[in-house]
Amino acid sequence: MIGLVDADGFFAGCELSRNPHLRGKPVMVLGKLGSFVLAKTHEAKKRGVTTVMPFKEAKRLCPEGIFIEGDFRFYTLMSRQLMAILREWCPVVQVSSIDEAYLDMTGMPEMYGKSYEALGDEIRTQVRTKLGLTVTIGMSANKVLAKMACEGKKPDGTAVLLKKDIPYFLANEEVGDIPGIGYRREQMVNRYQITKAGELAKLPMGVVKNLFGRNGILLWKELRGEYIFKVNPHPRVPKQIGRTSSFERSVSDVRQVEGLAFYHLERSLESLHRHKLMTGEISLHLRDHELRIYRIPLKLEKPTDDFFVLAKALSRLIRQVPRAKLWRSAGVLFYNLRSATIKQLDLFEGMGEMLRDERLNQARNKLNEYYGQFSVTSGSTLFLSKKKKGKKERFNLPFIS
Ligand SMILES: [Mg+2]
Repeated sequence: MIGLVDADGFFAGCELSRNPHLRGKPVMVLGKLGSFVLAKTHEAKKRGVTTVMPFKEAKRLCPEGIFIEGDFRFYTLMSRQLMAILREWCPVVQVSSIDEAYLDMTGMPEMYGKSYEALGDEIRTQVRTKLGLTVTIGMSANKVLAKMACEGKKPDGTAVLLKKDIPYFLANEEVGDIPGIGYRREQMVNRYQITKAGELAKLPMGVVKNLFGRNGILLWKELRGEYIFKVNPHPRVPKQIGRTSSFERSVSDVRQVEGLAFYHLERSLESLHRHKLMTGEISLHLRDHELRIYRIPLKLEKPTDDFFVLAKALSRLIRQVPRAKLWRSAGVLFYNLRSATIKQLDLFEGMGEMLRDERLNQARNKLNEYYGQFSVTSGSTLFLSKKKKGKKERFNLPFIS
């Protein structure tokens, strides 16, 4: 049995955890530059606020909302605590993003004398008691189905999707709900009158291969209940890191391109930090409505993992985006990667570290004030950002462009 543990509105959840008086209020966490919404509470969602929405629009929809600039070092500390709890329960944990981890839960019912459902509930209770966070746990035969089961039970739920129930479950899921199927691929299969995940799972292998290629077959096999994408607690170091996704509708406004590109910058940085890497080059990837690909690259002065350096670089790339075009997708790629563990601090960077440590101490004190039962230990890496771009959330599989 494979489990996916995914925190609900993680950044917003972290803020509620250290500021319990904000519970029940529309709270929105803004990206590093304060320009768009990275995470929101359920109350903000009900007001129509979506992830990657520009700050101004969110403010218009929800004038009494509470806007907080993201504090990624604090979220990283919370993430480590979350993963530590999961590792206490399960020996095989693969951290897949700042607030998501896959667990190979095979054998756990025998080990603990509890059903999968009871295990899921207990893990959730423990996370909530220790960290003040709610998470959702989906369990099934493999990663793809665990993720889909998890999405369906959000927030604060435990879902166990047994093999025998897979066909019924998939009959009610849209193709676009399958992790790794972006908007473009969804439209592609819709053209064949296929709208439900169950219909895709029933297609002959040859048709799937024609549509999606060889990697698509792996995804199709998981939909059919096979265990293909293994839970790997020691992922190999990537050669390049990047993220991209499509707009729901093509856009001509470069500011929208910028918003999506910055969203992917933050997500890619999270990966870069998780692997303790720096990037030597960055490129902006765009696709226009005729599916032509544009790649605007930039070689950095020196390898970096610093958000502000990369944000500046990305802003330069955005200025080179051709005007008067319709854009279908946008994303960011880091390449020419190298290890960040031998990074040399110059004097000013050193001072920055000191200032950040000051904020870290404040966060730690606050946390211990509220949740005296555990002690937060300091980390050495500054992670950034995360996830959740509406239903177009990407799944980190070879299948994904
Ligand atoms: Mg989450």
